[in-house]
Amino acid sequence: MRPLRIVGGRVIDPASGLDRVADVRVRDGRVVAIEPSLPAVEDELVLDAHGRVVAPGFVDLHCHLGEPGHEDRETLATGTRAAAAGGFTTVCCMGDTEPRLDCGAELAAMQSRAAATAVVRVRPIGCVTRGHDGAELAELAELAEAGAVAFSDDARPVRSSRLLRHALAYSAMLGRPVVEHAVDPDLANGGHMHEGRIATWLGLPGIPAAAEEIAVARAIALAGLTGGRLHLAHLSSAGAVAQLRTARAAGIAVTAEVTPLHLLLTHDVVATGPWGAPYDTSTKLDPPLRGEDDVSALREALIDGTIAAVATDHRPQRSVDKDCEYAYAAPGASALETAFGVLMELVAADVLSLPIALRALTCGPARVFELEAGRLDVGGTADLVVLDPQAAWTVDPASFHSRGRSTPLAGRSLRGQVLATLVGGEIVHREGI
Ligand SMILES: [Zn+2]
Repeated sequence: MRPLRIVGGRVIDPASGLDRVADVRVRDGRVVAIEPSLPAVEDELVLDAHGRVVAPGFVDLHCHLGEPGHEDRETLATGTRAAAAGGFTTVCCMGDTEPRLDCGAELAAMQSRAAATAVVRVRPIGCVTRGHDGAELAELAELAEAGAVAFSDDARPVRSSRLLRHALAYSAMLGRPVVEHAVDPDLANGGHMHEGRIATWLGLPGIPAAAEEIAVARAIALAGLTGGRLHLAHLSSAGAVAQLRTARAAGIAVTAEVTPLHLLLTHDVVATGPWGAPYDTSTKLDPPLRGEDDVSALREALIDGTIAAVATDHRPQRSVDKDCEYAYAAPGASALETAFGVLMELVAADVLSLPIALRALTCGPARVFELEAGRLDVGGTADLVVLDPQAAWTVDPASFHSRGRSTPLAGRSLRGQVLATLVGGEIVHREGI
């Protein structure tokens, strides 16, 4: 592998607080020097980062990569190409594949497929219950042994409080969090969007914020009871944020993530869609986009660190599952390639600072799952990105590397381009540099 020198960029490492203009040298897959000015060496590749930002590669705690079993939605190859284009060098994938990632053998099989076809690091999240069906606990110790970084039945909650209690008790012993998709399924049943004025106006059955709040209260109570490690997936409501804040202050081991779309958009977009028409199924997400107060609470919690991470919940769907009536459409959006652009929109609007946005994509998530990732330091693995935080671009789903083409951001102008992504010193994405 040729040595590489990244010249003249603003090097930001939120983990250490480093923020200065410097050159970065990469050799044999590692960062070997970060200095104000580094001399040229023979046969090196040079990336000119003047006016650009050099940062740790992004870490996604939550994505759905389709393989095995749902290759018509996404594959490890296409999903990780999308991740690389979005600046992600480590992605944690959910176990709702077919077969499910619910035993050591399935995890091993998925990881060997990833070793052959993925272009970024893929870390599996094992199922909490066998078959992902909520009836019986999976072999959590075996899953941890096989490389699971966390346990989740995401796409649905763990229905039984008794099983969730046991899973949380194991999480403390195994040092791996339980990731809960917090929703009361009975209360949410039949709903297609946030319950509020827009749902009333459009005549769509709603999902009240209380459906999330009830589930968050249950999960936090069980984390307190067991001393377990709880991580709340994709929070969407102000009420849930308030509970999270109280629980953390009380010393309960609970962390949380928020998606870029829930930081940017409200349920109003269901009425307008990306193209000015209501009922556009690209706006159907799980949990749904909620109100302005919810978005404000989520932003505030991300800024003060109550919410540790931005996670994409990249959930690509087939066009046949989106090109239908709103009520029948599958929820989810393709999100890996727009996450950074959304955050830079928020930076440009003075909602977030650039270091906070980068923290939420790097060391913030890495700490939640205790991953060796999300840092940029001398001696460390060269998983890094070169970014242009200001560059404006327009979201064109047809140009996505992901198989999923549905996003409520279609046609929208965003800021912030990923110019280069390096995994272990190897360039896995390069555009405009
Ligand atoms: Zn989920």
